[in-house]
Amino acid sequence: MGRFDQERREMIGVLKEKGITDERVVQAMANVERHVFVNEPFVNRSYEDTALPIEKSQTISQPYTVAFMTQELDPQPGAKILEIGTGSGYQAAILAEMGCRVFTIERHMELLLEARKLFERLGYRVATRGGDGTVGWSEFAPYDGIIVTAAAPEVPDALVKQLSEGGRLVIPVGDLDSQSLRVMTKLEDRLEIKEVRGFKFVPLIGKQGWNGK
Ligand code: SAM
Repeated sequence: MGRFDQERREMIGVLKEKGITDERVVQAMANVERHVFVNEPFVNRSYEDTALPIEKSQTISQPYTVAFMTQELDPQPGAKILEIGTGSGYQAAILAEMGCRVFTIERHMELLLEARKLFERLGYRVATRGGDGTVGWSEFAPYDGIIVTAAAPEVPDALVKQLSEGGRLVIPVGDLDSQSLRVMTKLEDRLEIKEVRGFKFVPLIGKQGWNGK
């Protein structure tokens, strides 16, 4: 038995209690070892349902948030998914574990290089790119799903443009203190929008995001 197997099982129990019902999401969260994406001195806290610090003053998102966003994204196996904000690489690994073709963008090269090493070591085929994700990744568009893991002041147009018909964009939108998670499905002639309140992410910094370093 692995060092954290019991803790990971307990985390799954917490996610289910909080309303994560999608079995594919539950299975992926049970399979991917979150402690591999967490750095010392926080490794022992990897299975607490909380965000934890990573390099460059960023965070690995709270497990419930990762599970909830993934459940809302509802990616089918083989779906082409773009993630903005690679961070530790954990969310991308969950999507890859679910059989998605993952493309991920991170503005901090140092974080991207670490995540890339992990994808290789764990055998996940994830396409990575350094830069500003608010402009998307047009070469591979359209995407069946786009997930933004940092808080945006508004929804970047480029991301809506790069969604396929029927595709879904999951993005936290709001001010710097709190955001609503917006779930937008692109239909033939309109966007269907659902909002869930009460999230807190680090800022999305870029051309169609916040100003910052
Ligand atoms: N998905 C990550 C994970 O599983 O660890 C969460 C990372 S953290 C909450 C959000 C990340 O978004 C940070 O690493 C930050 O540097 C990155 N970020 C912020 N603005 C960005 C932008 N315009 N383009 C790409 N990455 C961005």
